Amino acid sequence: MVSPPGSRTGPDPLDPTPLDAADPLAGFRDRFVVAEPGLIYLDGNSLGRLPRRTGERLEHLIHEEWGRELIRGWDHWMDLPTRVGDRIAAAIVGARQGEVLVGDSTTVNLFRLVGAAVDARPGRGSIVAVRDDFPTDRYVVDGVASARGLSVRWVEPDPVLGPSTEGVERLLDGDVGLVVLSLIHYRSAAIADLPAITDAAHEAGALVLWDLSHAAGAIPVDLASSGADLAVGCTYKYLNGGPGAPAFLYVRAELQERLRPPIQGWIAAHDVFAMAPEWERAPGILGFAAGTPPVLGLVAVDEGVSLVEEAGLEAIRAKATALTDYAVALHDAWLAPLGAELGSPRDAERRGSHVAIRHPDAERLRAALADRGVIVDFRRPDVIRLGLSPLTTSFGEVREAIVRLRDLLATA
Ligand SMILES: *Cc1c(COP(=O)(O)O)cnc(C)c1O
Repeated sequence: MVSPPGSRTGPDPLDPTPLDAADPLAGFRDRFVVAEPGLIYLDGNSLGRLPRRTGERLEHLIHEEWGRELIRGWDHWMDLPTRVGDRIAAAIVGARQGEVLVGDSTTVNLFRLVGAAVDARPGRGSIVAVRDDFPTDRYVVDGVASARGLSVRWVEPDPVLGPSTEGVERLLDGDVGLVVLSLIHYRSAAIADLPAITDAAHEAGALVLWDLSHAAGAIPVDLASSGADLAVGCTYKYLNGGPGAPAFLYVRAELQERLRPPIQGWIAAHDVFAMAPEWERAPGILGFAAGTPPVLGLVAVDEGVSLVEEAGLEAIRAKATALTDYAVALHDAWLAPLGAELGSPRDAERRGSHVAIRHPDAERLRAALADRGVIVDFRRPDVIRLGLSPLTTSFGEVREAIVRLRDLLATA
């Protein structure tokens, strides 16, 4: 075993055993299905594991509710988008009741809110977005802008540190109607300064839309006190809602009646079963709904959110910090000497719940790790992401994954 200099006489600081023994969240792993105990799964930032209760809840929903209640089930299914939304508001994103709605994909929610936001700022011809943000965010912004004859001003961020407040500020003036960016960068895990960027945008008279996909369930977020206008986020990553689980959207209460929802769906109508000749919007956040809610997906999100609620975001954040600090220490000791480079911020305060490791052979290394029982993902051009899910990942797994990566690099 390799030890860092100066540690030869004391206990090994890279030994995961005391870290796992002291982990207050260690027991949460048993709340999830672990079908292959030997598999080291470090991709919960792309698809979180399946909570045991979700299987039971879906069985019940399918057989007892859908199977037995049939259409009568809608009596208690209909308000799931706002019920689960209120739960996300309180436990996950620091919003008030009535500000979060769950349904449709993150992409569709982005499209709705980007469109509604720019329409609420007539006369402003520009949107600020981030050059290396998650593809769907860039594509949607670009598409909405070209459909309306607007231009996009791209922030050019540092690839490791992510978009800085100054980098956004430089592009702001009276022509900017909307700023769109991710709170946690999908590749580097860099955390943007949500309160400062929100303030800067407001000073320029622009609205701000935050994509919380990599933040929801990983770090505490406080939309209410920061004054953020709009947000979207995914529920199948750290919220463990399952493949294709419905995403959420947030519209600040004060803005809800000022924004015009771009989809005039019947479920967003004032009186759904009046089937009125003209669309009159439902009050509040429901005006941003569209069609029939995805009930199976919504109950799975509800279960995932309830586990995060039970563990508590402070404890989750503390463990995420410890896990990523540990991965960075192992990287420095074992991988950096073999040609790897850290692709995430060194300062844990500025880093989300995954660690990016850069290496020219990243794509091949991902495949070789998969052959050796370690699931990570690859992001073009040279990044391997180690997603460290605080409810399910142990320090021992992090060490074992990095040992296998080290051995691959050493024999390459
Ligand atoms: C995962 C992710 C999405 C996912 O969008 P879908 O519409 O659910 O496919 C969007 N934005 C960001 C920043 C993400 O990380």
